[in-house]
Amino acid sequence: MANQRMQAYYDVLHRTPKPIDFDGKISEIFGENVFHLEVMREYLPAEAYKSMKQAIYEGTRLDRAMADQVASAMKDWALTKGATHYTHWFQPLTGSTAEKHDAFFKPVGPGKAIERFDGDLLVQQEPDASSFPNGGIRNTFEARGYTAWDPSSPAFVIDKTLCIPTIFIAYTGEALDYKMPLLKALQAVNNSAVDVCRYFDKNVDKVTATLGWEQEYFLVDKALFNARPDLMMTGRALFGHASAKGQQLDDHYFGSITARVTAFMREFETDAIRLGIPVTTRHNEVAPNQFECAPIFEECNLANDHNLLLMDILEKVARRHDFRVLLHEKPFAGVNGSGKHNNWSLSTNTGVNLLAPGKNPKSNMQFLTFFVNTIKAIHDNSDLLRAAIAGAGNDHRLGANEAPPAIISAFIGSQLTEVLDKLEKSIKAGKMTPEDKTELKLNIGKIPQILLDNTDRNRTSPFAFTGNKFEFRAVGSSANCSSAMIVLNTIMAKQLQLFKASVDARIKKGDSKDEAILKELQKLIKESKKIRFEGNGYGDEWVKEAKKRGLSNLKDTPRALQVWHDKGVASLFDEMGVLTPRELEARQEIEFENYVMKIQIEARVMNEMVRNFIIPAGVEYQNKLITNVQGLQNVLGAKDGKSAAASQVDVIKDIAEHMNEMKSASDVMLAARKKANQIDDIEKRAIAYCDTVKIHFDKIRYHVDKLELLIDDEEWRLPKFREMLFTR
Ligand code: ADP
Ligand code: MG
Repeated sequence: MANQRMQAYYDVLHRTPKPIDFDGKISEIFGENVFHLEVMREYLPAEAYKSMKQAIYEGTRLDRAMADQVASAMKDWALTKGATHYTHWFQPLTGSTAEKHDAFFKPVGPGKAIERFDGDLLVQQEPDASSFPNGGIRNTFEARGYTAWDPSSPAFVIDKTLCIPTIFIAYTGEALDYKMPLLKALQAVNNSAVDVCRYFDKNVDKVTATLGWEQEYFLVDKALFNARPDLMMTGRALFGHASAKGQQLDDHYFGSITARVTAFMREFETDAIRLGIPVTTRHNEVAPNQFECAPIFEECNLANDHNLLLMDILEKVARRHDFRVLLHEKPFAGVNGSGKHNNWSLSTNTGVNLLAPGKNPKSNMQFLTFFVNTIKAIHDNSDLLRAAIAGAGNDHRLGANEAPPAIISAFIGSQLTEVLDKLEKSIKAGKMTPEDKTELKLNIGKIPQILLDNTDRNRTSPFAFTGNKFEFRAVGSSANCSSAMIVLNTIMAKQLQLFKASVDARIKKGDSKDEAILKELQKLIKESKKIRFEGNGYGDEWVKEAKKRGLSNLKDTPRALQVWHDKGVASLFDEMGVLTPRELEARQEIEFENYVMKIQIEARVMNEMVRNFIIPAGVEYQNKLITNVQGLQNVLGAKDGKSAAASQVDVIKDIAEHMNEMKSASDVMLAARKKANQIDDIEKRAIAYCDTVKIHFDKIRYHVDKLELLIDDEEWRLPKFREMLFTR
């Protein structure tokens, strides 16, 4: 084989689909590897079962004796599933999940051992996890960080290991993970939403945030993946000329799925189903070799655990099928990137979806209350929401004409726009007449239960109402949804609190309850108008219009993260009991650091590839051409030989030109990186990486991609886009 690329390509052509090893009934395996309530009922004494149920639904603590019983039941159940080890499964701020395995096995004498697992081991652990990011909260010398059991998310068995979902905190009690603040944000929104619900229904005593995520990803054959240092090291192709055919024909979108991919999907889906992840949807996405998987929505904390677990399963199963899965937001320039839509709503213990229009004026009024308050929360905190989805990978998508823009706005559809417009205009100052009230109620009553025009028509909005939920579309495919969900639920909690206070104040001044609510909604509609946008979010006109409206357009991660410095942000999180100012500061630091590291790695890999892959290929081909030119002159004589070799000489010169430009840009970038590394302050360093290092990426890439077109296909060492995107 000429080179690694050719060998890889050859391997791919000879792959066959793996056989599908499950053909039973999905309903029979659903949740079989989960220690869910039904299993608990079987394994736990009645009293322990009752406390567990309470812990799950009401967030109560389990006492030591109960924890012992649960631990013992969990172990007995896990052993029946073949588990030999257990682990506390947690979500450090690196973005993936972490685990440290311990064996159940304990020697108790010569040649004697037992399986041991008790309440202590279940409830709290001290993993030696000193190298996870902590933003200065935990000095490495006091390497104590604790994981603590989250009973609201069930334990599960995977790869013969019992995994116990946990939060991860410093010895001071401060959060070092995503889960703890998420749980607090969910608690906050529950408190505020219950208070508001009681205007409409006294039976409501719990409100749950629901999350339905849609995970996009790419598949690439493992041989091609391994022949690309950039994919291996950074998850994206730093170079690569677009293939002649990309996604322009839209022939991949919802097209039929090949046998090899189907076999992969079947396997990860059955694994997921066994772990209680209700995946139901699968389809091809817009870009070639891009796919999507979505489950039915669940309670937010559980849904998020399930997303993280699924990302993990995707990776593992892909390897078994000789694929590699790319969760990066933008693996291939020129074709669509990957996102993770977060469908979000609130639902009550009485079974009502608070963002679904109801059957009568009263339930519609409740719907409007939550609907309008959501828009107001987005309006007041749009920058914070933008910061929640910031990351080096997502910077390639946001505002890059394929994903919702970096400008946060909300789409609600024409029917609801009309409803809000009417509401805004029809309430006059002062006391409402009985006729006014009747008229208003009539109008509100007219909102149909199913909003026909509201099904997903506008795909360019970052935050769209889709009939019975909002869809936050700007979340990156590799992200932990918690980041977005912490912010969304916290700002909603705060907004509902403000709403409640204002309505109560109006009632105190003599307004009836309905009147107070309507007037307050009218006020919120007016105040939040500028965040509503129904047009094309991808257009240049929107950028101009948004600027006129005073909406931010924070295009890169460092700028987006600076929002966290705002005084209001720290007090919002503090007041809602979600993050202390110190925790927030630590998080900001970690995010800046993550950004620097990602750009730094990309820059290093670029430098390396230029030197070790691109220049050698260019030189080799040039030499081939030079030999040819010299040969022609030998055979034909200097004059005729020169004219016969004219095009080869042109190519030699073109290659030289692009190599020189590429090399000098890569040297300039290297110098800029060295300079940026001298900066102590992490925030300033992140900005330097963004403004002085990353800006060279495009130029270097431009020349590399030109070289790819000039150099002999056999000489080129990196798998090309047409191979990575169309071979499967
Ligand atoms: P589609 O948009 O494909 O027609 P749906 O609107 O039913 O399908 O759902 C899209 C996604 O939204 C799914 O992942 C689904 O689970 C989720 N979803 C539906 N209802 C809710 C809800 N009340 N809360 C959160 N997510 C939801
Ligand atoms: Mg969607």
